[in-house]
Amino acid sequence: MFRKILIANRGEIACRVIRTAHRLGVSAVAVHSDADARALHVEMADEAVHIGGSAPAESYLNGERIIRAALDTGAEAIHPGYGFLSENPDFVAAVNAAGLAFIGPSAEAIRAMGLKDAAKALIERAGVPVVPGYHGDSQADDHLSGAADAIGYPVLIKAVAGGGGKGMRRVDTPTGFLDALASARAEALSAFGNPAVLIEKYIQTPRHIEVQVFGDGHRAVHLYERDCSLQRRHQKVIEEAPAPGMTPEMRAAMGAAATRAAEAIGYAGAGTVEFIVDAARGLRPDGFWFMEMNTRLQVEHPVTEAVTGIDLVEWQLRVASGERLPLAQEDIRLSGHAIEARLYAEDVPKGFLPATGRLAHLAFPAGARADSGVRTGDDINPFYDPMIAKLIVHGPTRAAALAQMDRALRQTEVAGTVTNLAFLGALVRHEGFRAGDLDTGLIERDLGALSAVAAPDAGTLGLAAVVALGLDGGLPPEAGFALWTPLWQLVVLRAGEESHEVLLSVLEPTRFRAETGGQAVTIDTANGWSIDGRRRETSARRIGDIVAIFGDCGAEFRVADPLDRVADVGAGSDVVEAPMPGVVKAVFVAAGDAVVQGQRLAILEAMKMEHALVASRDGVIAELLVAPGDLVQSGAPLVRFAGEDA
Ligand code: ADP
Ligand code: ADP
Ligand code: MG
Repeated sequence: MFRKILIANRGEIACRVIRTAHRLGVSAVAVHSDADARALHVEMADEAVHIGGSAPAESYLNGERIIRAALDTGAEAIHPGYGFLSENPDFVAAVNAAGLAFIGPSAEAIRAMGLKDAAKALIERAGVPVVPGYHGDSQADDHLSGAADAIGYPVLIKAVAGGGGKGMRRVDTPTGFLDALASARAEALSAFGNPAVLIEKYIQTPRHIEVQVFGDGHRAVHLYERDCSLQRRHQKVIEEAPAPGMTPEMRAAMGAAATRAAEAIGYAGAGTVEFIVDAARGLRPDGFWFMEMNTRLQVEHPVTEAVTGIDLVEWQLRVASGERLPLAQEDIRLSGHAIEARLYAEDVPKGFLPATGRLAHLAFPAGARADSGVRTGDDINPFYDPMIAKLIVHGPTRAAALAQMDRALRQTEVAGTVTNLAFLGALVRHEGFRAGDLDTGLIERDLGALSAVAAPDAGTLGLAAVVALGLDGGLPPEAGFALWTPLWQLVVLRAGEESHEVLLSVLEPTRFRAETGGQAVTIDTANGWSIDGRRRETSARRIGDIVAIFGDCGAEFRVADPLDRVADVGAGSDVVEAPMPGVVKAVFVAAGDAVVQGQRLAILEAMKMEHALVASRDGVIAELLVAPGDLVQSGAPLVRFAGEDA
């Protein structure tokens, strides 16, 4: 076993790897960017090396710096985590050339699976079914559209170098093909520097079922399947193991196919073979097709760990240090059911806009595994993926795991940034999902209901007002009841664009009356929270100007000074502000241009998505305040309109 390893990553996965390294008595070296100088992974590691600026290209993607850090600290091996350099064969070759071990597959294995077209051809030769389609060399427009006709619509155009759902377009009819081809190519070129695409049959009711494999360069085994069909824009949201409705026959067929794929390339380390399944035809041994292989540890690996009892990072370290596979296939058992949910800082009603902010509070309930790279006080910053944590539960049955996840989400406490917590809660309670009736279109179909935000009720607003005024401990006895003047107070609570006014009056030191929106409730704080005599399982806290209500997926308000509101309305209407932090990709207008309402002004890119900013009214552009390439914070002024009267 290694004595010391370096982790070329950040966030939850760096913390996750450090945890296992320490359990095995292996020292861990962290690397970090400027923004991560005080990050959790740095604190957990035995040593840390600063490798550059906050932008990934200056730090976590700088292979040379990372290798230098490993050599300087005497690390013997590098663990890449996922994302960043984890699937970069040139980095692997450079690590090996420096005399270090790479905790993952060989550069050749990564190369073999790196491009989806070459991978499909290779896998097909190994006798594994692939999605019907065209993955040959020709990239001519008419050849590709001819291939699409031959395959039969709908088809999917995919970037061969794709990942993270980018460079992918579904096309339903021949008329839309060439436009979709052009836009898939453009996206692929900008994201991966490679415009090549392949064409696939679009499976109509798709389920994404993948198999965890593990190899030691000689032999490979599989650790069963994960179902990752709950996706948004081809990105996973909730994952589980085993797949609902999986039959022993299909499991055996998928496991054998995945193992064959891994052995065909002499695979060493953890990998995932992703298959697409046609849910309309049910789960049957001849109803799955290879999509791609991810040659790294997957974000959702903890569900496999939960149902097999195997620590996949431990296996990675053991195999990379020269050991054979720790278990034979027949000794790997499946037990119970596990579910993972990805908690993100994102604004669901605003189209899942990635958010940033300081985590004023973060706590996870007992009874769930929470893999996180942040803690209370940390910033979710614009440079990286806005993931806050992964919650993983394990129960004897799927129903038990679902119930546990529901409880874990309700009891998760986050304050300081918007999150997808309520959305995840709604998903876990979704009837179709509960019944195991899932496909990759489920979220999109029911998006309205899943992302609806219930308006806070009078009870919630009332107790938020009590907390806002610091009265949740009751009135200080020395204050004396009569000294409480005035006996009522107006509290303004903001949630997003909504403002709620609550008139709070004191009835007794621990009893209050709250009036809001024409409704009145009585709140009692003597013994937990009671609203109109009914107990409410909740806790609440004021942190700075935030009032956070925990329980039931939470609610958060900003306490506004009632006098602030007027200033707010007058300002800002002439200035287009960044709705989130990101990079300005393009600006379409210049000073002096006349624009109409709805016209595109600029494109902002944040995390993996592009967002068009449109004019909210007709007008004339007075001034551009940013240029393409600028990094902007949320709320930063981007474009100023000439005043209405100008
Ligand atoms: P999976 O979620 O199945 O493990 P993905 O390829 O979707 O695999 O992503 C794995 C991780 O890699 C993501 O969570 C993200 O951190 C990173 N990642 C993948 N693709 C991109 C991308 N295009 N831009 C930024 N980060 C990405
Ligand atoms: P990426 O590298 O971006 O992860 P994948 O090839 O793994 O690309 O596809 C991502 C997702 O797109 C899958 O999980 C699935 O939901 C959907 N998808 C991919 N191929 C097909 C297909 N042929 N038919 C229907 N859906 C597909
Ligand atoms: Mg994939």
